[in-house]
Amino acid sequence: MTGAHGPGVRECPPERTPAVVLDLDGVLWLGDEPLPGAADAVARFRAAGLAVGFMTNNSSLPVSGYVDKLARIGVEADPSEVLTSALAAAELLAADLAPGSKVLACSGPGVVEALEARGFAVVDAGQPDPGPVEAVVVGWHRTFDFDRLDRASAAVRAGARFVATNADATYPAPDGLLPGNGALVAAVATAAGRRPEVAGKPEPPTVALVKARFGERGVMAGDRPSTDGALAAALGWPFALVVSSATLSGDEATDHDAAFVGPSLASLADKIIDALGPSDA
Ligand SMILES: [Mg+2]
Repeated sequence: MTGAHGPGVRECPPERTPAVVLDLDGVLWLGDEPLPGAADAVARFRAAGLAVGFMTNNSSLPVSGYVDKLARIGVEADPSEVLTSALAAAELLAADLAPGSKVLACSGPGVVEALEARGFAVVDAGQPDPGPVEAVVVGWHRTFDFDRLDRASAAVRAGARFVATNADATYPAPDGLLPGNGALVAAVATAAGRRPEVAGKPEPPTVALVKARFGERGVMAGDRPSTDGALAAALGWPFALVVSSATLSGDEATDHDAAFVGPSLASLADKIIDALGPSDA
């Protein structure tokens, strides 16, 4: 379950089994609470011969952290199956910035891991005097404070490229909603006077990441039409909407074009398997 892994995009052969790509928060768990039947639904997808992916806009944990958290709810996952907005942000920068470029991480360890895996020299915004950097990546973290805001916004004002792992205003927790990375990014953007490039769902860097890992055919399941549903549309995949507190928060439009809607992943598993057809892989 542990062991070495590379979070960078892995080249895959063109012929691949269809995939179910699952959002995590609100689909497999709420905060630290597993959602009933979710692990069993993943087992049914695997038994049906489908590839399974896990795609979260939460960039705070390294990939191994999500593998471990999945294991705690009874889902065995390979690190290559886990995609985060931190990986999407690192891929976005790697398209233009040379390895060794200095990048300020105003984020949790997931972003640091993804940037280091792409060969960037990472400076933590929690450290004083970061010096000139070529890019700033803002990802969700609980230690965001005035000094980090000062360093990140100063770097952006000085001309650094400005990347947000994701722009979610909130994310679901067992007792309601918590501020999401969009709130931290808004503070940096306001102080810097510049808007960021966004890497996570449903933006093009994540579309590219999902296609590189899982190919052209799949179903995207998530609890937010604005991110998960929009990613499904960008991929050209059906969207399976799992209704959570985030779906009903008022942040989300009520007119979505989900192919399937249900109160849990378990309630949608048969429909998702049917939609992707029997696998001959
Ligand atoms: Mg979610």
